[in-house]
Amino acid sequence: MMSAVWHPFTQHGLGEDIPRVERGEGALLHLADGRTLIDCISSWWVTTHGHCEPRIAAAIAAQAGRLDQLIFAGHTHEPAERVAAALVAMTPPSLTRIFFSDSGSTAVEVALKMALGYWHRRGEARHRILVLEHSYHGDTIGAMSIGARGVFNRRYEPLLFDVGTIPFPAPGREQAALDALESAATGPDRPAAFVIEPLLLGAGGMLIYPAAVLREMAAICARHGILFIADEVMTGWGRTGSFLAVEQAGIAPDILCIAKGLTGGALPLAATLASEAIFEAHLSNDRADMFYHSSSYTANPIACAAAAANIEIWQEEDVIGRIARVGAALARGLETLAGHPAFDNPRHIGAVAAVDLKAGDAGYLSSLAPALRAFFLEKGLLLRPLGNTIYVMPPYCLTEEEAARIFAAIAEAGDRFGQPD
Ligand SMILES: *Cc1c(COP(=O)(O)O)cnc(C)c1O
Repeated sequence: MMSAVWHPFTQHGLGEDIPRVERGEGALLHLADGRTLIDCISSWWVTTHGHCEPRIAAAIAAQAGRLDQLIFAGHTHEPAERVAAALVAMTPPSLTRIFFSDSGSTAVEVALKMALGYWHRRGEARHRILVLEHSYHGDTIGAMSIGARGVFNRRYEPLLFDVGTIPFPAPGREQAALDALESAATGPDRPAAFVIEPLLLGAGGMLIYPAAVLREMAAICARHGILFIADEVMTGWGRTGSFLAVEQAGIAPDILCIAKGLTGGALPLAATLASEAIFEAHLSNDRADMFYHSSSYTANPIACAAAAANIEIWQEEDVIGRIARVGAALARGLETLAGHPAFDNPRHIGAVAAVDLKAGDAGYLSSLAPALRAFFLEKGLLLRPLGNTIYVMPPYCLTEEEAARIFAAIAEAGDRFGQPD
């Protein structure tokens, strides 16, 4: 029977196989046809501990029978209070206020609105946003506006607002990036905020840059009074080896966005963390000054209960140790590709490893990516390359054997699809 489902980032006209998944368990996905896949990309970067983590599943079940949904304007509930208090304790001291929403894109939109609200209330008409080249911040109009322009958003260009783009601090070009930020910060059109994915740019191609550059960028923004917004939607919850990526730079952002791993990957929930100054800018005895944003499921109690259970896991179990072990297995896997002529630019941070496949036409729309997807599917792997960039971002329960299987398949893909120069 024909499916009525319209899938995201899927060209239905190509008739590609759309596997039906019945059950998830740890790093594995069990398909309806009996096959099993290793989830090498954490089901779009969200599953941290593993699928159907028992403590999180139990918390969801319990909360679903207690309080399922609550209007969050003017009301509160225990799971949200618990998560908010824990987030304040777990994140840099600059962040004291937690605003809930339901996706990474929304968390970013909220951050932009908070920044503009802050400057408005201070009587400065600042609205220019600075971003980093190759960034990705989500697929809503505001989030697309501050992300890299490309095939994903070209047709919506008339709706997108202008931003100032700072070059990516690639090896050898770090100082140029810092100089560009310095000059944008001091230019005539004073920026309101600088939005950045700390240490690792995800959808832009798994690009890594040093913590020292991040620290210096934060310092430039602080010197010139520009709000520093860290988008940790993907990097948060241990992906780069520390709970937050900003910890490695020792910086104190004004606003920080988290989502994906907030519930361990079980339910949609996001949060925008703000400094006291941002909160206070919206504080007055005039209702007109309040922060105007909400969505129906803001701080949904079941999602918050999942997040609270996830936070307990972080507090009671050695999650960072697990990430270090997975990271070491990924690093060893990358080493096995070292002599392979089809691969270029191996890189690794925390529980993420990436390598570029040398291939003729390697753009996002080339036929390479779907061919690679189909190849990996045949090997029992859910792997979804970004153009010619093959990356592994598994749940933290991935075993040594599973990692070895993944990299053996990647080596084989290099033999089959690579075009060494
Ligand atoms: C995935 C992602 C987003 C968007 O999150 P959604 O939950 O998909 O809306 C924003 N920023 C970064 C850095 C991301 O990786």
